[in-house]
Amino acid sequence: MSERLLTVEEAQAAVLEHIPEIGVERVSLAEALGRVLAEHVLAPRDNPPWDNSAMDGFALRHADIQAAAPDRPVAVEVIEDIPAGRVGEKVVGPGQAARIMTGAPVPEGADTVIPVEDSRGAGDRVEILDAGRPGANVRCCGEDMREGEILIEARTECGPGEIGVMASVQQTYVPVYRRPTVAVLSTGDELVEIDQPLGPGKIVNSNSAGLAALASACGAVPVVLPVALDEEDSIRSSVEAALRSDLVISSGGVSVGDYDYVKRVLDDMGAQEVLWRVAMKPGKPLYFATVGGTPYFGLPGNPVSSMLSFLQFVRPAIRKATGHSSRRLTLPETRARMLHEVYNRGDRRRYLRAHLRLDGDGCLQADTSHRDQGSHVLTSMLGVDGLVVLNPEERVAAGDTVRVQLVRYADAGF
Ligand code: AMP
Ligand code: MG
Repeated sequence: MSERLLTVEEAQAAVLEHIPEIGVERVSLAEALGRVLAEHVLAPRDNPPWDNSAMDGFALRHADIQAAAPDRPVAVEVIEDIPAGRVGEKVVGPGQAARIMTGAPVPEGADTVIPVEDSRGAGDRVEILDAGRPGANVRCCGEDMREGEILIEARTECGPGEIGVMASVQQTYVPVYRRPTVAVLSTGDELVEIDQPLGPGKIVNSNSAGLAALASACGAVPVVLPVALDEEDSIRSSVEAALRSDLVISSGGVSVGDYDYVKRVLDDMGAQEVLWRVAMKPGKPLYFATVGGTPYFGLPGNPVSSMLSFLQFVRPAIRKATGHSSRRLTLPETRARMLHEVYNRGDRRRYLRAHLRLDGDGCLQADTSHRDQGSHVLTSMLGVDGLVVLNPEERVAAGDTVRVQLVRYADAGF
């Protein structure tokens, strides 16, 4: 009887148990984009630090002009000008106003700013044409942040918003999780490198480039090694070189035919096998072990299988190592309507490469018909927005809603 394959979720959990967090380093703010914060960012002071004007206009006491209307203007005396970057020197008294620019501190005595559009006249006497409401156009002290509050939690990925907020609190250096190095090793006698001539029976090693790009996109530093031949000595010396990285991914050599090469070499090196084979397609022949504490992923050789296995298992591992919270390790999900009927025959979870767009009703629609969905059809990865997830024996009619993992919006540059 054949042994039951692990489900994707079981395999993910087993992998993640063996992934330690990587260390922390300090980088300059400009380098923090896409990195994961290792500490909370706190507000060092209130911001805005003082009440300030949201408009170019007149800072005054609302009580003085509350009767103002277009046909009943109320005149005020302009006692000073307060451009942005300056602080008013006078106290605004009854019947008085300060001409104020956007962002400038509201002067003492004033409680409201009337926009210049609601006034008439110039110089030291203007007429207010519309009273508005008391307190209008004043941005209050602390509206953006309060001293001591947690602005950004540790384990948050730094996007442009986080970078802007850290700049606003003058955080010039940022503690972030280090980027792990990921060795990328392709195995197979049939492989030639992308800049070498193709001989008879040979194919181009496309996996190394695709997997290295995936590793970069999720925040790791890929270290691409030369192709290893399907021989123990070649694999051994490549694996030894690969183990200098924080994590190793190899592709090929783990399907039933040649599984033993990689496995035998790793066994000799004292590898602790954690799992082999997962109930998914494409991508069943996944091998995962630790070698002297270093996580080692033996991904399938088929180009699509290797990329999908990366997304389901290696990406979560890299994200755990780089400090992402446990809720955000796997791909984000949404739901979409299938454009065509699909049937997942068999007992393995299936992942279809999909293009997503909005249909006429504003619902997300998944189209998986751009290319054949075979695991050897690498062009099916072109323009992919998401992966439609089908359970074993799931049958979906056109228009039915399905589970979709988002890839395009999950990582930089996918
Ligand atoms: P394997 O897992 O080694 O049995 O390989 C399965 C299939 O993937 C075979 O058709 C291989 O030629 C192909 N393949 C393996 N490694 C690569 C690679 N690095 N780049 C492109 N195709 C590959
Ligand atoms: Mg092979």
